[in-house]
Amino acid sequence: MDSSKVLEIFKEITRIPRESGHEEAMCAYLQKFAKDRNLACKTDEVGNVCITKEASKGKENVPALVLQGHQDMVCEKRSGVAHDFSKDPIKYEIEDGWMVAKDTTLGADDGIGDAAMLALLDSDLPMGKIECVFTVSEETGMDGAFGMQPGFFTGKTMINVDSEDEGQMFIGCAGGVDTLAHFKYQAVNFNKSYKTLHLHIFNGLGGHSGDDINKGRMNTLSTLAKFLSKELENEEFQLIVLKGGGKPNAIAREAEAVIAAVDVNGVEDRFFKFMEEAVKEYAETDPDIKYTAADCQCTEKPMDNKDADALVRALAACPHGVIAMSKDVSGLVETSTNLASVSMHQMGEVEVVTSQRSSDKAELKEIAEKVAEVFRKAGAEVEHVSEYPGWKPNPKSHILDVCVSSYKKLFGKEPEIKAIHAGLECGLFGEKFGNLDMISFGPTLRNVHTPGERLDLDSLDKFVKHLTDVVTSFC
Ligand SMILES: [Zn+2]
Repeated sequence: MDSSKVLEIFKEITRIPRESGHEEAMCAYLQKFAKDRNLACKTDEVGNVCITKEASKGKENVPALVLQGHQDMVCEKRSGVAHDFSKDPIKYEIEDGWMVAKDTTLGADDGIGDAAMLALLDSDLPMGKIECVFTVSEETGMDGAFGMQPGFFTGKTMINVDSEDEGQMFIGCAGGVDTLAHFKYQAVNFNKSYKTLHLHIFNGLGGHSGDDINKGRMNTLSTLAKFLSKELENEEFQLIVLKGGGKPNAIAREAEAVIAAVDVNGVEDRFFKFMEEAVKEYAETDPDIKYTAADCQCTEKPMDNKDADALVRALAACPHGVIAMSKDVSGLVETSTNLASVSMHQMGEVEVVTSQRSSDKAELKEIAEKVAEVFRKAGAEVEHVSEYPGWKPNPKSHILDVCVSSYKKLFGKEPEIKAIHAGLECGLFGEKFGNLDMISFGPTLRNVHTPGERLDLDSLDKFVKHLTDVVTSFC
């Protein structure tokens, strides 16, 4: 099968609106694609589509192979660009061997995977039965995979086509859970002899709480909490505001506090000294860290000192970063936790969001419980939300064997075998459909999820060759 055919189908897909949660047009396109070719097609309640192509002559005894990707794309554009993702086709260019959308996301994640599956469905290659599964809303929480009912497909071997580095075979991913702590505090009167001071740490590099958790970057919330917990030992001090961080899956790049104290100049001096040390410590990983301390006006009521003390001590004690490395896949983070955000939505309440990941189910539970305990001891109410299962690497997998020997035969070298410390839909399928033998690979994409997303066309060529060979030689 030729990669130009895959590219042609992908170009059609770039004309179809398919923001997560609004995949109707893409779903209709897939249904029509199947109907035009007389292929069995079913759509479930959430909008997942499965198109089946029966085995070609002589291949009836080959076990069914499931191919899987997602219908939706992340819709991001440069500010000031007039592009309506609900109706406008994606504008792209072919430049120096890359297909690129300069002002928007390209949607090759995962439109190119979809196109490869459709090209196989359209081909008359000799192969066993294939079931092509197109999920919805992968990018916003894997709703399609969550909502899929067992029996939607029957094959026991799955190739996920939603990876971004050609030459790398993925055989595992992390599961995750968010652990939330709700603190209640007593608001007290502002001590009129005190002055207020705004402390701000910003410009951390942050990054993804899965992919970047092993980079040793500063968590600005941890840093600020460590400073405050020292300061609060001083009686003449009130905490008024404490907040920072953002999404659960991002490392906190920014944190701020408003405090009141008799001697704000003294606090400022100690803050600068403390931060000078921190900046030295993180010089390699966060070269652009900035911090300020400035007088400010604040009308909000301070926290009772005991409540403030419990909060900042818990935040300072909360683990952050890598907890354990994998014994099966070298260099893979197995378990980690991220202190993601602190926010004050209304007077008297503070919400802390943390997020744990692990490719091992028992370890995930253990670290989530450890973090919960830190906050429970400090008097917070704790809950675990948004749990999703991981996919534990199986180095003895049959489909891995098939993919590796095919790759060596075609390109004369070994592919890299990897697992990622982030979520993939495979984790959910593995748990729901039981005993699936799975692998994930795809062509090289860059700047995924951001304007300027690009697809390497040489890598597409290799990906299509490899996928075709695997599908036709699978037995
Ligand atoms: Zn994707």
